[in-house]
Amino acid sequence: MKRRRLGKSERQEVYQKCNGHCAYCGMGIDYKDMQVDHAKPLRIGGEDDLSNMLPACRSCNHYKSTLDIEGFRRYLSGIHKRLMRDSIPYQVAERFGIVEHKTDDVQFYFEKLEGRRNEKRGSY
Ligand SMILES: [Zn+2]
Repeated sequence: MKRRRLGKSERQEVYQKCNGHCAYCGMGIDYKDMQVDHAKPLRIGGEDDLSNMLPACRSCNHYKSTLDIEGFRRYLSGIHKRLMRDSIPYQVAERFGIVEHKTDDVQFYFEKLEGRRNEKRGSY
């Protein structure tokens, strides 16, 4: 899949979209470590332009891979179930209260940012 090479200012613009954080997990990322993710992957018809690009850390970019946003959410939402099925140390850790399952509901960092923006808009 051929993709456009971003200019410096375009890369900056992607980086600024989430104020220097990964759009998915919200971890702070250095500019040089940022990976540019296509929110809707090119291979399923996503556009190769800035509106379809989000800053991602290496890990999220790797796990999201060729998934779209909802596919990535489904993947993450299923992790706890898979751990309970496949990982005995995890099962033990949960039983002893070492780890605690909080939620399968995944909200991405960029969605939290959008929510905050919408709240601000609502309060004017
Ligand atoms: Zn991330």
